[in-house]
Amino acid sequence: MNMSQTPATQLPGRAERAAAAVAISGTALEKSYRSGNVTTTVLRGLSLEIGLGELTLVSGPSGCGKSTLLSLLGGLLKPDAGRVRALGIDLWTLAARDLERFRLEHTGFVFQGFNLFSALSALEQVLLPLGYLGLDAGAARLRAEEALAEVGLSDRLAMRPAALSGGEKQRVAIARALAKQPQLLFADEPTSALDAASGQRVIEILHRIARRHNCAVLCVSHDPRLIGQSDRVLQMEDGCILTDRRQSEQKESTA
Ligand code: ADP
Repeated sequence: MNMSQTPATQLPGRAERAAAAVAISGTALEKSYRSGNVTTTVLRGLSLEIGLGELTLVSGPSGCGKSTLLSLLGGLLKPDAGRVRALGIDLWTLAARDLERFRLEHTGFVFQGFNLFSALSALEQVLLPLGYLGLDAGAARLRAEEALAEVGLSDRLAMRPAALSGGEKQRVAIARALAKQPQLLFADEPTSALDAASGQRVIEILHRIARRHNCAVLCVSHDPRLIGQSDRVLQMEDGCILTDRRQSEQKESTA
């Protein structure tokens, strides 16, 4: 399927996806890394589905393959074998340009290290991807301000990263992802660089985004503090999912 010739409206609609519930499915995923003569096999035929409207946590020790899995499901890294279907599209059959477009329009990423530009204010960081999406200046500003308000940073719009705390920087990164209004939000160790209170706030925000925007939020982390805050917890070890546990219904966070 050629995404560049396919308007976003031809993707399954929001309501259809909600009925289907599955946002992403990975089937028989395999991935190894080669470095010189050494091959590290990380995933050996892993399959899983990630649902819309909930926060799914992949938990497990460092090195077990969580980031690799997130990269495969997010269209950042090509599996050696297996298939990733996201929002009804077989990601790794897309041409590179179409995959890039898919990521721009439908995914948001949040990383441990925030990945902010030191010279840009919080508002400018969030505006940046909206320019690539083709929004006009007024609409982009409105969306950026709404996203920053949603993460509790309305009073920090003009501040640059150096003037923000770690938790605030991560919330800017979340707002930057959120402002694109993605159906798929990926977070790789989003709380690992944060103190307990800031980490708690970040995970509450991610949880709320999943519910409020019917977004599939996939978070990978070795931080055990996140386990109680997620709708579903997949415990991973040595490239395998050992347990898949759905948490009891939690109230929508008000963070
Ligand atoms: P986790 O996110 O659970 O810490 P990763 O997916 O980052 O695990 O890594 C899984 C394994 O793959 C580790 O042994 C790691 O060293 C190895 N690995 C990850 N990325 C690369 C790479 N680019 N080149 C070689 N080995 C890698």
